[in-house]
Amino acid sequence: MAETTYELAKQRLGACGVHCGKCYAFAGGDICDLSNQLVSSLGNFDVYARRFAELMGEPVFLKYPDFREFLGYLGTSKCQGCRKEKCKLFKACRVRSCSEGKKVDFCFQCDEFPCKNTGFDEHLYKRHVGINERMKEIGVDAYYEEVKNQPRY
Ligand code: SF4
Ligand code: SF4
Repeated sequence: MAETTYELAKQRLGACGVHCGKCYAFAGGDICDLSNQLVSSLGNFDVYARRFAELMGEPVFLKYPDFREFLGYLGTSKCQGCRKEKCKLFKACRVRSCSEGKKVDFCFQCDEFPCKNTGFDEHLYKRHVGINERMKEIGVDAYYEEVKNQPRY
């Protein structure tokens, strides 16, 4: 049976509402997959980058090795998302375990929302509250449709 939008939203969004599916660290996310595609399309560009820097007098090509290294890093993303493992970015996050204890899929479904138990810094806390207020207003399915193709950053 096909997954419902709600089930997909639950796989891709953390209980805090942040979009794991668009995180650079998400295995099989756009950033990971597109980085691998770009590495593949670039082939042996490192040889040409050195030549182009010289032939064209464009020193920007000398930055290619760092760019390639970073693409390689993005392409080896391994996180399965915060429903399945501890977040690598927000190590102090308490939302996942708390939401499991409260038996809610998303924080806005909790009687205590907005609470002071997230462990987030100010920036992430504001984002989490904004996302959950929006989900509460339009529903999880509509919220997921709204953000599913948007960059997270
Ligand atoms: S759990 Fe954290 S590191 Fe993993 S995909 Fe989600 S936001 Fe990114
Ligand atoms: S107590 Fe706070 S962190 Fe825990 S589920 Fe409720 S709103 Fe989310």
